[in-house]
Amino acid sequence: MNECQRAEELNAYHDGELPPAAGAEFEEHLRQCPRCAAELAHLRELSRLLGTLAEPKLSPQVLHRLHRGAVHASQAGIQRMAQVVSAVAASVLLVCSIWMWRLPADTGRPEEIPQWERWALRQEEPRVAETGGEELALWMIEGLTGNGDHD
Ligand SMILES: [Zn+2]
Repeated sequence: MNECQRAEELNAYHDGELPPAAGAEFEEHLRQCPRCAAELAHLRELSRLLGTLAEPKLSPQVLHRLHRGAVHASQAGIQRMAQVVSAVAASVLLVCSIWMWRLPADTGRPEEIPQWERWALRQEEPRVAETGGEELALWMIEGLTGNGDHD
């Protein structure tokens, strides 16, 4: 870390953003300040390296091969993604199948619920005209004792 008070001017000088008078004055400072001189050298080296990265010197043949390689890699990636999606879909299907297969055993079939309980859950009066009072009483007894033919 450059602790010189004028270190902030380094980037501007390096980028040629200082006015001519200020630039000349900063060059005078550079001759007396080894820290700023060293950092300027470092900045110039970084710029040089970035410049070589930005403009790679590659032959058209190498560029063509790189392009083909990139296209191939991209296609392979899509193929691999499709395989993963297929595997996930198959897993989801399998889990759903097992879940649906086990569902009746866990909850019981609806027809096993006694009639009186269904009436109670629906909170509606059974239509006495349809069932008759005796039949309703039988339903309730069957449901309570568990001796009904529908169990
Ligand atoms: Zn300095």
